[in-house]
Amino acid sequence: MRKKIVAGNWKMNKNFDEAMALASEVKNMVNTEVTNNTIVVLCVPFPFLYPVGKLLEGSRVALGAQNAHEKEAGAYTGEVSAGMLKSVGATYVILGHSERREYFKETNTQLAEKINLAIKHGFTPIFCCGESLDQRNQNIHISFVKSQLDESLFHLSESDFKKIVIAYEPIWAIGTGVTATTEQAQEMHNEIRQHIASRYGTSVASEISILYGGSCKPDNAKELFACPDVDGGLIGGASLKARDFVDIIKSF
Ligand code: PEP
Repeated sequence: MRKKIVAGNWKMNKNFDEAMALASEVKNMVNTEVTNNTIVVLCVPFPFLYPVGKLLEGSRVALGAQNAHEKEAGAYTGEVSAGMLKSVGATYVILGHSERREYFKETNTQLAEKINLAIKHGFTPIFCCGESLDQRNQNIHISFVKSQLDESLFHLSESDFKKIVIAYEPIWAIGTGVTATTEQAQEMHNEIRQHIASRYGTSVASEISILYGGSCKPDNAKELFACPDVDGGLIGGASLKARDFVDIIKSF
C-alpha cells in the first residue's frame, strides 16, 4: 500500500503569532477529526520551523521546509542548508516548486544536488514537477515532466529513489483556482508512474507516492484523491485555513 500524504505549503505567508495559531488549530483538528491514516505535513517558512516543530511534537503532523540549499555549508549569504533544517526538526522538504524554478531560476541539475543533500540528511524530499499551459497546449507536457524526473531524480540509486515523494503540480493550476480535471491528473500521474517503472521497475513505481497540487480545495479533493494514481495533495492556498486543510485530509 502506498502512503497517502497531504502536505500544506504555507509559502511566504503568516507572521509568528498567526503561524503558531494555525499550526495549533491544524494539530487539534487532525487529532480529533482525522480517522484515516493519511500522513499530514506542514511545510512552513524557515523562521517558524523550530517553534512549530515544538508545537507539533508528539502529534501525527510532520514538519517540512519549503526549500534547502544545494551546498552543505559556506559563504552563501541568506541561504539555509539541509543540515540546518534537519537540526531544527524538519523531516520533509519541498524541492523544485515551480515558484522556485520561475523566480529563483532553479534548474534540474541544481535540483539534483538539492535532492542528494536532502537524502543525505535523512529527509523525505517532496519533488515538484509540472508543465506550463503553453507546454500543455503544445502537447509536450508529458515529455517535459519526464525530463524533469530524468534530470533531477533518475541518477538516484533504487534505495534512495524510494525515499522520494513526487508532487505533480501543473503550473497553470497553482494559485489560479483552475484545477486539473481528474482525467488530466490521472493521465499525468500514470505517465509519471510508468516512467518510474521504466527506470526502477514496476515494484518501485508502485511504492512511490505521487501527490497532486494546484488549486486543490475541499470541494474537489475527493474526486482527485479517488484517481488510482493520485496519492494525496500538496496544498497551497487552502492550507492557510485549518478548516479547509483538514477537510482536504478527510477527503480520503
Ligand atoms: C502549491 O503552491 O504548491 C499549490 C498547490 O498552491 P495552490 O494550492 O494555492 O494552487
